Amino acid sequence: MNMDKNTLWQTALTKIEFTISRPNFLTWFQETGIVNIENNTVTICAPNVFVKEWLQNKYHKIIIHNLREIIPEIKDVNYIIGKAEGPSFAIFFKNHPKKKAKSIHFDHLENEDMSIKEFILDPETNLNPRYTFNNFVVGSFNELANAAAQSIINNPGTNYNPLFIYGGVGLGKTHLIQAIGNKLLEKNPGYKVRYVPSEKYMIEIVDALKNQEMNALKEKYRTVDLLIMDDIQFIARTEKMQEEFFHTFNALYEKNKQIIISSDRPPHAIATMEERLRSRFEGGMIADVGLPDIETRVTILKTKLETKKVSVPEDVIIYIAEKIKNNIRELEGALNKVIVNAELSNMPINIETAKKIITNYIASPKKFTSAKKIIKAVSEFYDINERDLINHSRKKDMVKPRQIAMYLMREELKSSYPSIGDKFGGRDHTTAIHSCEKIVQELKINSELEEEIRAIKDKILLIP
Ligand code: ADP
Ligand code: MG
Repeated sequence: MNMDKNTLWQTALTKIEFTISRPNFLTWFQETGIVNIENNTVTICAPNVFVKEWLQNKYHKIIIHNLREIIPEIKDVNYIIGKAEGPSFAIFFKNHPKKKAKSIHFDHLENEDMSIKEFILDPETNLNPRYTFNNFVVGSFNELANAAAQSIINNPGTNYNPLFIYGGVGLGKTHLIQAIGNKLLEKNPGYKVRYVPSEKYMIEIVDALKNQEMNALKEKYRTVDLLIMDDIQFIARTEKMQEEFFHTFNALYEKNKQIIISSDRPPHAIATMEERLRSRFEGGMIADVGLPDIETRVTILKTKLETKKVSVPEDVIIYIAEKIKNNIRELEGALNKVIVNAELSNMPINIETAKKIITNYIASPKKFTSAKKIIKAVSEFYDINERDLINHSRKKDMVKPRQIAMYLMREELKSSYPSIGDKFGGRDHTTAIHSCEKIVQELKINSELEEEIRAIKDKILLIP
């Protein structure tokens, strides 16, 4: 290897920069460096344990992939805590002004809903004023979660503490938990509310450590009346973050301050969630958000229409509601597509054109599932290595994820058993049959598994 370590890291960083978002890049890579390269193993230093763990658990694949593109012989990457040296990095980051890093909104990392982004978030609370109960439809799918929310609004910090809400993508978790914050603020303007998606919370911690503002950050989180932590599943990837959150959680809990948490799955299904956090969550109220039925979907569409100055025929509304069942964001998206199309073509909305548009909308390529996506989603969900999942790794935790991946290939792609076996390191087709059977049987008695598989299917849809 004749490239020096600083040049290597700088080259890798220019590549990595294009694969992740700007605030994430700045937070997690700014103070990193290569400390040495020995026996084809690269050692990377991180400024503190939070960054080290996150690089290890979240970015390892990206890092090793990019390093290998520059030097194919690289075998492995280690992480240590340490200071990056060499002036090249300072220059590197100076050329890339840290613009906007602090003001980026995280509430809709995967949301295309522009109408929400137009709103300016209150920097104190982070709440989006658009999320209220006035435009929130309640049906049997979210009845329990909504009832808990109402109880909290009447008596925060008492009965349902913490409130843990879980459910699939686009089913209104963020809307509901922010609506609680907005409502409590409206009732009591002096109330201190803080809404934060867990990914943003982690970035704040790392920033605070860098700027030696950790005490101020702790103070900020431990003196609120209501803390709303969205999508907590991300935090479970690192122990140190969980620990930090645990202390904040306890500080608030002991003062009877209300804590609300959302996740894509129930606490017990977050494999890497620390036991003490899990049992804290389970000591409160856990409510799921399921799928809205057809009547509710129609009501949701009609509610959305109230704020738009167009009339959409009843049969079109029903058609959309019948076709889009699993995601309220997509339900709204489909309605918007139909409306925009009519505006652009200057034609009234009718069922024939609506059918064409919706058919295209449903079949849009972003939804195509593939074996690759299934493997990626399962690995990400269980936080395991894709290679271990596919190959004959004997690690005991691989068995169930592998069976689920095989099952999903059968169910979602209608793959043949021999081809499923092939995809998993040339296993025999009888293994594939056995695996799928096992999951089918298990699903009959295990509703938690059903929950997990649903969450994995959601994940598949999010993979580009
Ligand atoms: P999640 O956080 O569960 O992924 P969101 O809260 O972001 O879902 O909701 C996705 C979109 O659907 C948002 O635009 C939200 O306003 C809308 N939405 C979700 N649930 C409802 C509901 N019950 N009534 C009206 N709109 C809803
Ligand atoms: Mg959300």
